[in-house]
Amino acid sequence: MGLIRLLPRPGGSPPKPAPAAVPEPERVERLPERDVSEPAQERTPPVGDEAVTDDRPAEETSGATRAATRVIALANQKGGVAKTTTTLNLGVAFGEMGYRVLLVDLDPQGNLTMSQGLNPDAIERSMFDVLVHRVPISEVIEQREVDLAVASIDLAGAELALSALIGRERSLEKALAEVRGQYDFVLVDTPPSLGLLTINAFVAATGVIVPVQCEYLSLRGLVQLENTLAMVRENLNPHVAVEGIVPTMFDGRTLHSREAIEILEENFGDLVYRTRIRKTVRYAEAPVKGSSVLKYDPTGAAADAYRELAREVVAAKEAEDGAQARKHA
Ligand code: ADP
Ligand code: MG
Repeated sequence: MGLIRLLPRPGGSPPKPAPAAVPEPERVERLPERDVSEPAQERTPPVGDEAVTDDRPAEETSGATRAATRVIALANQKGGVAKTTTTLNLGVAFGEMGYRVLLVDLDPQGNLTMSQGLNPDAIERSMFDVLVHRVPISEVIEQREVDLAVASIDLAGAELALSALIGRERSLEKALAEVRGQYDFVLVDTPPSLGLLTINAFVAATGVIVPVQCEYLSLRGLVQLENTLAMVRENLNPHVAVEGIVPTMFDGRTLHSREAIEILEENFGDLVYRTRIRKTVRYAEAPVKGSSVLKYDPTGAAADAYRELAREVVAAKEAEDGAQARKHA
């Protein structure tokens, strides 16, 4: 159908892969044993290189450790496609692999915050204050299964408050500069819209992962998302691109689900991850307990699906970087 040209995966160095088997049932404090000086430095960091001409703060261009950090926006302007579920469980799966992970809740609904047992209505300072009042992001990070920068109900007013600010699209990028070097992965959960909060995520991101519900596949929605991303690439962050599409709520017994995957693969080729996130009530049960599915049901298939996705996201990037390196050699 050729709806969208296949996009190159974004550039940037992969984090050093953790040893294949690092069973870490409980979160390790700060993983001091992991060597973060190692990741290849031969490539320019995906964001923060000279190609960007506008209002980039100085600290954005200097951090050597930044080359290793992958900031991934989980986006789809449709609600209920498993953005939040994927942010949490993919993040926790990266954590299990030994990566240092920060989750950022950029959705005023605060579902990600809730899914780690926190009440967005009772939170005093949140990403709203970070984005609008320039409160350091470290002040709103809670240590849960992985680190989490929390949302509160205030965030609903952020789009309006931000719209009056100069550099309104770069608020998240600037906020992340403070902590970026401390993490291998920053996963940003976005609201179901392509407004200023999601744009902030795209501007700060090295890549975008799009969860897509196999049941109500909206290719038009994906075209809109790609158009917004193209605009961000042109004006604000030349390196951001869709790095993968995750089929969620897959039910292999239905023709409909299988057809949805076929259509996705016809249109987006290898951008579609091989991992299928199957439909199961486990994903709805876990947040009620304030935990990821990896903690709630560690040996279940639902947890394994996100572990598999995490390995695939790491491997896809390594393959892409290898191909890029060979091209430039
Ligand atoms: P979004 O953030 O895109 O709005 P959510 O992650 O909140 O979507 O998921 C929407 C609802 O679907 C939630 O109740 C969630 O628990 C449930 N859900 C997510 N993934 C699955 C899945 N693979 N199978 C069944 N239910 C799921
Ligand atoms: Mg959500």
